[in-house]
Amino acid sequence: MPNFTAPKGTNDILPSQTPIWRQTEEKLAAIAASFGYEEIRTPMFEDTNLFARGVGESTDIVTKEMYTFLHRGKESLTLRPEGTAPVIRSYIENGMHSDAQPVKLYYLNPTFRAENPQKGRYRQFHQFGAEGIGSYDPSMDAEIIMLGKAVFDAFKIDSVTLYINSVGCPKCRESYYDTLRAFLSQHIGDLCEDCKSRLGKNPMRVLDCKNENCQKLTQNAPVMLDYLCSECESHFEKLAEYLAASSVEYTVDPKIVRGLDYYTKTAFEFKTDKLGSQSAVCAGGRYDGLSESLGGPPAPGIGFGLGIERLLLLADLSANERYTDIYFAPTTDEARLVSFKLAAKARSLGKTVQTDTMQRSLKAQMKFADKIGSVYVAILTEETLKANSMTIRNMLTKEQFDIAIVDLEKIWEK
Ligand code: ATP
Ligand code: MG
Repeated sequence: MPNFTAPKGTNDILPSQTPIWRQTEEKLAAIAASFGYEEIRTPMFEDTNLFARGVGESTDIVTKEMYTFLHRGKESLTLRPEGTAPVIRSYIENGMHSDAQPVKLYYLNPTFRAENPQKGRYRQFHQFGAEGIGSYDPSMDAEIIMLGKAVFDAFKIDSVTLYINSVGCPKCRESYYDTLRAFLSQHIGDLCEDCKSRLGKNPMRVLDCKNENCQKLTQNAPVMLDYLCSECESHFEKLAEYLAASSVEYTVDPKIVRGLDYYTKTAFEFKTDKLGSQSAVCAGGRYDGLSESLGGPPAPGIGFGLGIERLLLLADLSANERYTDIYFAPTTDEARLVSFKLAAKARSLGKTVQTDTMQRSLKAQMKFADKIGSVYVAILTEETLKANSMTIRNMLTKEQFDIAIVDLEKIWEK
């Protein structure tokens, strides 16, 4: 047993996988840019109250899943469990409400939640997220949803379905909550412990509970969609029109309520049936009240978070083979020094280069050059040095030829 292993629920991303991650991140950045979203990077930890207030005191994230620590025994800090609250904190703090609106931002973040790890559910995972801030208009909702869809299209994933709903606004939610509470109170004895406490603070979350019994009990529960005020209703209809006009297919699911307190109107999820209970791949919604709840100016917004690990589990990506332009294989001490000089020169030509750092035999070096996918090997021996030359072997065609050491660049002119 080694003395140390990575903390439970965390993963090393190993060299065989990092090229896939890099490609994925670049692809996500390019998709976001194609919609006019710019990257933002916020700190890995924030004031605990930002999440308590911005995500919601009664959410699973805040009550059960945060990594919180006291800095020097005084200041309570929390590792980022989600991306939206930090972005809105930054929007307020940096006066972005005075910039041209909408402000369209995306992020690629390590994210931390103390959950029970399983496939597709980790304690450190990565989110790609986007936020469109400054517009109340349903076209902003449609754009954000299309950005999410563009990701699945680009990664050729057709096993996700888009579900949309409206969770209304504080105005229409009030009377709906009364109705829903009345309905749920009849079954209070059968609800799970979590849902019993949800009933008081945010009864709509009971609809979202993963407990089978709770799901059964809420099958015929009244839904927000039937209680929307005229403003929320027309917002939902307009969104549907935009999605239809852009040929985005969706299913209305009145049970998509999202776990966060700050959501208003549109809520949506891209779900898959391929990852067991890790079915949500991308989830988001509108949060018109968030900025003000954090002490900022009115700043409506909509965004989503998309789990990159779940995206990669669905996308079938394989890493490219290892690749090196040239490997210098010296066989004497003097040749080793020349190899170092030549390696530096080849790198300045923009080539990917390696040379021996193990004092290995020529045979072992040839084997290594093959392993690192080197196209050429330059062999430098006592004899070739005497002639100021080196032997170049093309590892693909097995052809060999000698060239002068000063003519290094000619290798690529052939
Ligand atoms: P779930 O219902 O699976 O717990 P969630 O509702 O908590 O998901 P969100 O808070 O909406 O998830 O986060 C957005 C996305 O981040 C999810 O759709 C998912 O792809 C990803 N995600 C959330 N939690 C984890 C986790 N612990 N490990 C890996 N990915 C996660
Ligand atoms: Mg969760």
